Amino acid sequence: MTAQKQPTSPAPVLVLFRDDFRLTDNPALHAACASGQPVVCAYVHDPATYKQGVIGWWLAQARAALHDALTEKGGHLLQIGGDAVDIVPALVKHLGIKSVFWNRRYDPVGKAQDTTLKTTLESLHVDVQSLAVRLLHEPWTIRTGAGQPYRVFTAWWRAAQNMGEPGRCLPAPQTIEFHNYSDNLEKLLKAQAIPPARLPDGATAAEQDWPCSEEDAQEFLHDFVENNLAHYADERNRPDKDTTSRLSPYLRAGLLSARQVWHAVRAAPQKTVSAENAQTFLAELGWRDFAWMQLFYEPDLATRNLRPEFDHLPWHHAPDLLEAWKMGRTGYPLVDAGMRQLYTTGWMHNRVRMVVASFLTKHLLTDWREGERWFHDRLVDADPAQNAMNWQWCAGTGIDASPWFRIFNPVGQSEKFDPSGAYIRTWVPELRLLPDKLIHTPWKADAALCRQIGFTPGKSYPAPLVDLKQARAIALESWKNLPDRKQAD
Ligand SMILES: Cc1cc2nc3c(=O)[nH]c(=O)nc-3n(C[C@H](O)[C@H](O)[C@H](O)COP(=O)(O)OP(=O)(O)OC[C@H]3O[C@@H](n4cnc5c(N)ncnc54)[C@H](O)[C@@H]3O)c2cc1C
Repeated sequence: MTAQKQPTSPAPVLVLFRDDFRLTDNPALHAACASGQPVVCAYVHDPATYKQGVIGWWLAQARAALHDALTEKGGHLLQIGGDAVDIVPALVKHLGIKSVFWNRRYDPVGKAQDTTLKTTLESLHVDVQSLAVRLLHEPWTIRTGAGQPYRVFTAWWRAAQNMGEPGRCLPAPQTIEFHNYSDNLEKLLKAQAIPPARLPDGATAAEQDWPCSEEDAQEFLHDFVENNLAHYADERNRPDKDTTSRLSPYLRAGLLSARQVWHAVRAAPQKTVSAENAQTFLAELGWRDFAWMQLFYEPDLATRNLRPEFDHLPWHHAPDLLEAWKMGRTGYPLVDAGMRQLYTTGWMHNRVRMVVASFLTKHLLTDWREGERWFHDRLVDADPAQNAMNWQWCAGTGIDASPWFRIFNPVGQSEKFDPSGAYIRTWVPELRLLPDKLIHTPWKADAALCRQIGFTPGKSYPAPLVDLKQARAIALESWKNLPDRKQAD
């Protein structure tokens, strides 16, 4: 009698999730499901890419949300701690996986890991498919006529627009056929425990401000397109109006893709949303890509002045001034409002980010890298490319950056962009009884008014940390004395 052949179960395929914690418009997940093989969905918590601070908490929330979404579809997200370069091949061998899918990364550590991983997996005869979705345009796809990466945003953006519309968005898979395994994989693969991600001290409003799921991200997007896109160009610089999209945390964790945002904006009815508003907003999304292009070509964007003449700038090392800035106690209301908004919620309006960055680097003459680190620790949207590029932009040390001599006056900015002081009153409540005119300059309140409202300058609220005129003169002098300054002009 011939032995009957057992039907062999099809080899499973693996999808690795990394900052793309969503079911919709996820090419890696889509391709894995389309393979017709049973799917394993996994996330590797790797010490080399693990982030702490508010962003660590936010990414943990996003993973939990994806896990819930996969559970609803009858599966789960395997979350496993350890070095991805070791854990993934071990997982693949153990489960007999024949294909691995991921969406491409462009940061130096992620890129290097993926290159190694691909080589290792291919040597095990495992097919690897890496797909593009993180950006509207991959960093190397837009180049100057001479074949070089662009160094000026407007030229890059023109070229980007000539590339045509980004590809269509993919729907969430209707069903996912999950691979069943009963093994304790964490134990078998000697995985490391994943440390719990906690919000740092003081981030008391982050949880309430940032609901975390793919549906929440879509709701933020549709609410913005419906209610605020129509006046984006006029209002985007107004922290008191607070009508920007607030999509940055969702884009950061990949609860939303950039092209989902792009197409939602393009689909807005022209009757209500003018081309100017749509274009102004899409250009901001363009800055996101431009930042990633910079990080791709300048892997040390967060640590090295892209203009080397700034290596000679005599930065001040004044821990007490830095601490006052971090805690929102500089005596300049708009700066303090922004820093307190950041500390409490994990987010700060873009105009105010520019003002506080200019104040730290120019009025306090503190190295921009200190600010970059603090933002990275406290931002819910902390992003290695956008944070580093913007800090170098504000400090004047980057490419296509705001020149050093453009020093924002925090009082002028406050009067212009928060005229009635509504934003300041929200975040610096000790100033709330001051009249609109004085809320930008509380040190000018006269004794009678102070008595009347129970306000003691220097005590109820700090006296200004530095004299703006003097600090500005020192900043300009330090810059003028830089060797090879011409390159910075
Ligand atoms: C010093 C400094 C540090 C910053 N650090 C970060 C960061 O770590 N992560 C981050 O996502 N953004 C960062 N930004 C950029 C910007 O402040 C935020 O993207 C924006 O405030 C997010 O709010 P929003 O989603 O309502 O923006 P919207 O005005 O609605 O813009 C839509 C999207 O466009 C992108 N975008 C907007 N402005 C910029 C910009 N200047 N550079 C790059 N992309 C932009 C973001 O993805 C944003 O979500 C920083 C800006 C400065 C000045």
